[in-house]
Amino acid sequence: MNPYHRAPIMPVVSLPAAVEPFKWADRATQVVADVPLAKFTRLAADLVTTEGSVQVNCRFERNAQRIAFLRGDLATNVSLTCQRCLEPMNLSIQTTIDLALVHDEDEADKLPEDADYIVVAEQDVALAEIIEDELLLNVPYTPMHDHCESLQYKQVDVAAPVKENPFQVLAALKKPSTEE
Ligand SMILES: [Zn+2]
Repeated sequence: MNPYHRAPIMPVVSLPAAVEPFKWADRATQVVADVPLAKFTRLAADLVTTEGSVQVNCRFERNAQRIAFLRGDLATNVSLTCQRCLEPMNLSIQTTIDLALVHDEDEADKLPEDADYIVVAEQDVALAEIIEDELLLNVPYTPMHDHCESLQYKQVDVAAPVKENPFQVLAALKKPSTEE
């Protein structure tokens, strides 16, 4: 650990284990960190490999109405399993965090209607969990290649109904015979 951690130097350059979101908002604390993907265990469970990291650049702040916010950007590249061909597929995630921080639902009711928010405690808040939730929102439930190779096989399958045509031909051939 950095022995100078107590020094009020901004920004925080590693992902803290626990934060005091409202105090950090008072101090307008910025967090800039490169966090290994492996740290996000729920996300990692869906990944082909946990090599790589998430670039976190966010800040706790208060707006003019003194509402606390967590705002910033997340960027990473992950490798998921395509659910169509079961081969790896890369997904670039670039997302923005813009969350009001509230103590409870009553406080949330006072927010503008379009504001996203999370209910957080005064302290011991796991910033990594919030970040991971945001990342997971950007991972498709059923990841698939935009241009999946297995589509070629699908097209063969799709072509199969064409085989019905010979029956139609047969039917057409039969018709005259029944008319006879
Ligand atoms: Zn695929």
